[in-house]
Amino acid sequence: MSLIQLVGISRFYEEGAVNALDGIDLEIGPGEFVAVTGRSGSGKTTLLNLLGLLDRPTAGTYRWRGTPTEDMSERRRNRLRARSVGFVFQDSHLIPTRTVSENLELALRLAGVPRRVRRARAVAALERVGLGHRIDARPSTLSGGERQRAALARGLVHEPELLLCDEPTGNLDTSNAQRVLELLREAPPGGCAVILVTHDPGLAEQADRRIELSDGRVVADTRRLPSDGAARSDETPTGRRGRVLDFIDDVGLNVSRRPFRAFVSAFGTILAVGMFVYSVAMATTTSSRIEQVFDLLAATEVRLGAPPAFTAVREPAVEERVGRIPGVVDVGRTWEVEEKPMAAGEGPWAAPSRMVAVRAVSPGAVAFLKPDVDGDGFVEGDHAFGVPAALVGSVVAADAPVPIVPGSIIRLGGREFMVRGIVEDVQRNPDVLFQVLVPATTAERLWPDEGSAWELVVEVEVGTAETVAGLLPLAADPEQGDRLVAQTLPEAKNLRQTVTTQVDEFVVLLAGGLLVASVFGIASATMAGVLERRFEIGLRRALGMSRRSIAAMFLAETTLTGVLASLLGLVAALAIFLVVAGGRGWAPVIPLEVIVAAPIAGLGTGLVAGIVPAVHASRLEPVEALRR
Ligand code: ADP
Ligand code: MG
Repeated sequence: MSLIQLVGISRFYEEGAVNALDGIDLEIGPGEFVAVTGRSGSGKTTLLNLLGLLDRPTAGTYRWRGTPTEDMSERRRNRLRARSVGFVFQDSHLIPTRTVSENLELALRLAGVPRRVRRARAVAALERVGLGHRIDARPSTLSGGERQRAALARGLVHEPELLLCDEPTGNLDTSNAQRVLELLREAPPGGCAVILVTHDPGLAEQADRRIELSDGRVVADTRRLPSDGAARSDETPTGRRGRVLDFIDDVGLNVSRRPFRAFVSAFGTILAVGMFVYSVAMATTTSSRIEQVFDLLAATEVRLGAPPAFTAVREPAVEERVGRIPGVVDVGRTWEVEEKPMAAGEGPWAAPSRMVAVRAVSPGAVAFLKPDVDGDGFVEGDHAFGVPAALVGSVVAADAPVPIVPGSIIRLGGREFMVRGIVEDVQRNPDVLFQVLVPATTAERLWPDEGSAWELVVEVEVGTAETVAGLLPLAADPEQGDRLVAQTLPEAKNLRQTVTTQVDEFVVLLAGGLLVASVFGIASATMAGVLERRFEIGLRRALGMSRRSIAAMFLAETTLTGVLASLLGLVAALAIFLVVAGGRGWAPVIPLEVIVAAPIAGLGTGLVAGIVPAVHASRLEPVEALRR
């Protein structure tokens, strides 16, 4: 039985305007060596594409071992091409990122040859064409003749029944061309039919049969005797698990052999994931520090407010009495005097006065409030002698019509005060930023009869707040203290919750936006890759890969790139974060969720980014992709 049989095959282009093939009848038997000649444009390439099932005829029937190929499913045609057909093109179309041997192993893989024998068969095929010494070389380091012999080895390595060669010697000098022809004559094991398209009459003469095409018709067909064949190798095809491993391997190589390209395309993702991880780690660590500060402040703060009638709470000696309670670190008295007109500047240019709140503080109260002061702060003498000195809250200073800085003179209620500093921040009683602080002694001397909101503020050791609060009223006022209640601060925990969730929401939004943007980075770089790898895609189809596999390959490439990018971003961000946190002496807190979320985000990014390139690559027509 014939291997292939064409009956009335035509291939028209442009709605019949171009008849590339015009009613071809042709039968070729197993193991025949056929040379096809004809002028340029006579339809030789079109014929080979049809024979290789890369293209479909407009009319006619093409039978493979008696079965019409038009009726075969796409899957069956792909498989037939992968197992039984080999191609050699004018350009070698070796994949540049793979070694010579890996190029052959890809063909073997797609032909279903099991992994463990692939390398040995690739090496044997390369030795047969005299490339035993270049097995692990990259194609770009081979000479033109060597490349074409490697392409020939790839076309034959899976022991096809039909080898289609489209001007394989077109780019070679005479001696290299002759070498390829000899290899073609001797190499095919097991009765492989060879169809060789050539312009060179000297080469065509050496074939068993010569067919000449002209304007899409067979104008000459001369036969000699067919060669006999040896036995073909026989292996059980690769199983499902093997195919999955092969796929992973293939995708892994595609990404890892172009590391710089992968890095650049995924840079946006690296950045997005890195920023996400860094910000979350930073936010978590910071809010845990805020929690610690809140907890610490809450755990060490006790206050005792007293109405004016409780005179004992206001006298300076109260500090000494309370200071004797075990666990007390600092005791201070503070109250608000009446609002005072404040003026800044001197002489006739003095700014018009405005009303400000004035708070009296003893040294213990200053220690309790923990103000962050720009300037010297109160000095010892201010408290001892009642020298008019003041600390101005940052809000008051900012609102003043003339600049108030440390060293300025201001007038409060008509008296001059020296500004010892500006309170930029304060750990307790934030209303201090809206007030002017004066020493308790000064307030007592200048405004003895004014005052409201009297408070004893007590800083205690951690863990003693409740006991101190219990003892405080009677220690402060031995006579009427039983009618007072000291306050501790249990509500700090609520505040901390608010702070934590607010930070996290913002970070998630930011990182999400960056990730979405980074999808375009991977997608556009991969799209460029699809265009650049057009030949490779065409070749893979010629080697029998289905459209679906091509799409899956690109999708997997972008997904792998996304995952790798996210891991890189994760590791880099954590490293930077640990250095920063370490430098500031913070105990780093890294939530487990962020370590899990990073690769998932990368996976999603890569998957979405791959959709458009994958669809595009799978839609490429192999015949178009391979045309120069
Ligand atoms: P050969 O390989 O013998 O040089 P081809 O088989 O490549 O010739 O082309 C045969 C004819 O078909 C030529 O006239 C060519 O211009 C035409 N042809 C091939 N492919 C297409 C196409 N996709 N669209 C239109 N015309 C085409
Ligand atoms: Mg051609």
